[in-house]
Amino acid sequence: MKFIAGNWKMNLGVRESIQLTKELKKTLKAAKNAVAVFPPFTSLYPVSKEIEGSGIVLGAQNMHFEDNGAYTGEISPLMLKESGCKYVIIGHSERRFFFNESGEFIRKKVSSAISHGIIPILCVGENLDEREKGLQNNVVKSQLLDSIKNIEGGKIGNIIIAYEPVWAIGTGKTATPEQAEEMHSFIRKTISISHGAVSSKIKIIYGGSVNASNSESILSQKNVDGALVGGASLKAESFSKIAFYGEE
Ligand code: PEP
Repeated sequence: MKFIAGNWKMNLGVRESIQLTKELKKTLKAAKNAVAVFPPFTSLYPVSKEIEGSGIVLGAQNMHFEDNGAYTGEISPLMLKESGCKYVIIGHSERRFFFNESGEFIRKKVSSAISHGIIPILCVGENLDEREKGLQNNVVKSQLLDSIKNIEGGKIGNIIIAYEPVWAIGTGKTATPEQAEEMHSFIRKTISISHGAVSSKIKIIYGGSVNASNSESILSQKNVDGALVGGASLKAESFSKIAFYGEE
């Protein structure tokens, strides 16, 4: 079973979110893969009501690591849980780049999510310059280990890693299935060295211009356990086609 996640980013108001969710409930009724949607904060609670009993699961695109306090504009893990979130995306490259999120900030969020029983989807990935210089393994290894170094072996199973090469996000350029497989297996090996055999159970999903035409070749790779889909998750037709991977 694959894990297919739709990151709606800063798109869709409450009404549009409900509309898309209604369409997804219809089109995904028979889907056997696990499906999660990540609407903007303002749509979380209404979407959580709409997906009740549907099998679709809810996640948020970001969170603060503290439970509450004077952090204007931020949303806490407690608020996410109350709004029905099971997952949270952490360290997305857009947050690292546009909002200067540091490794330390990301590490604290990952630990906080796990301690609150929210499954973090930790995003890692190199930019184009780093790929062209052949530095992708070093970059991904350092982002990954920096974010998970405080997590004990027993708890690391409660994490999903999203390999998202920055050069492939929203650009229409996808990593080849071979490039994805190579990095996913490197990530699994890295976690097996840092945290042991649990690495074989951790979901490692791919993100970067996944769409209805290229999803099959990427999802068929051995170490690709799912996809984090941006643009193509905003239309029920394309997202459902991706989510039906492996089914007739
Ligand atoms: C993303 O938002 O994580 C993403 C991969 O976006 P896109 O599919 O649009 O490249």
